[in-house]
Amino acid sequence: MLSRVPMTTCTALIVAAGRGSRFGGPLPKQYALLAGRAVLRHTLEAYRSAPQITGLSVVIAEGDEPHYLAAVAGLDLPRPVMGGASRQQSVLNGLEALADRPPDLVAIHDAARPFIRPVDINACLEAASAGGIDGAVPGVRLSDTIKRTGGDGAIVDTIPRSNLWRAQTPQIFRYTSLLEAHRAAAALGQSEATALTDDAAVAERAGLKVVMVEGSEDNRKITTAEDLRITMETRTAFGFDVHGFGAGNAVMLGGIAIPHTQTLAGHSDADVALHALTDAVLGTIGAGDIGKHFPPSDPQWRGASSDRFLRHAVELLMERGGRIVHLDLTLVCEAPKIGPHRDAMVASIAHIAGIDPDRVSVKATTTEKLGFTGRREGIAAQAVATVEIPRR
Ligand code: MG
Repeated sequence: MLSRVPMTTCTALIVAAGRGSRFGGPLPKQYALLAGRAVLRHTLEAYRSAPQITGLSVVIAEGDEPHYLAAVAGLDLPRPVMGGASRQQSVLNGLEALADRPPDLVAIHDAARPFIRPVDINACLEAASAGGIDGAVPGVRLSDTIKRTGGDGAIVDTIPRSNLWRAQTPQIFRYTSLLEAHRAAAALGQSEATALTDDAAVAERAGLKVVMVEGSEDNRKITTAEDLRITMETRTAFGFDVHGFGAGNAVMLGGIAIPHTQTLAGHSDADVALHALTDAVLGTIGAGDIGKHFPPSDPQWRGASSDRFLRHAVELLMERGGRIVHLDLTLVCEAPKIGPHRDAMVASIAHIAGIDPDRVSVKATTTEKLGFTGRREGIAAQAVATVEIPRR
């Protein structure tokens, strides 16, 4: 008969009970929106995608229930635990609430660290599971020179930094050891308790062996409203399209009809400019190309106005919390002349994309009568989209 090695259980205890006095917004920072979702929700989703985490529990402040319910809507979570007057008391409440069905390990994590990666959770969990170790804490080694000053602001000494770290969370411990350490710390006087600024400090005081694990600078804590703003990254992507001329009297370019001796042939309205722009925007979010979203084989796109293609791509970007910074278009053709229609095309593209006209550029060139555009067989369009999108 096969014997089964029991799996280590690890419950993540997310501490979301803080008031965040330095944040200064209308909401505690864990409920502020980051890319359209509460900071707390980003944190919870990181833990839900970490395979070694077997349970999830959240500690919130009394009175925050409406914010909490809005933040976690649709997630299947146990009822939150009510926190206490201090962070330490909130953690103790959370630990006590797990006592009925104690996990082997508990990972204490600040709700305001939404950028935690499952790989870093796992590294910490492995370190905490090692023999003879009671807990593990991720951190980053100090790179700045550390000074100590006296009361008058003058430097008293320079502290060797080689063994100094900035501690982060998750702080992962053997559950029963941490519970005992927190119970003991709860009996301390105010000044002694205030000095225990993280769970590792509580564990250290109890004589537990806690090791540091190399963490990531990405796992930073949201402290001020500014921290929510610097979490966007810039992306750039390219789009290209060609349509051939057919019989007609106008071409659609950038969402406007430009009189011409021919039209552009294609399944939709053949707006080569909007097609290139659509592919560029889709490229910024790795969402495939226009043919994936609007297959030419689908009769519903026959003769379709191409503004909906670009609008759809922009909406996909916005669903990910992104925004368009700039759209740059180059049309390649001998005719029609683009210059007289440039301003109208800029206004039209800006309107379709929902951005300011000064974020749109339309340029045109010829190929000196060379190639298919030089022979007036069709029009080519190249587009570059620059966007901002939340860092994950
Ligand atoms: Mg096309």
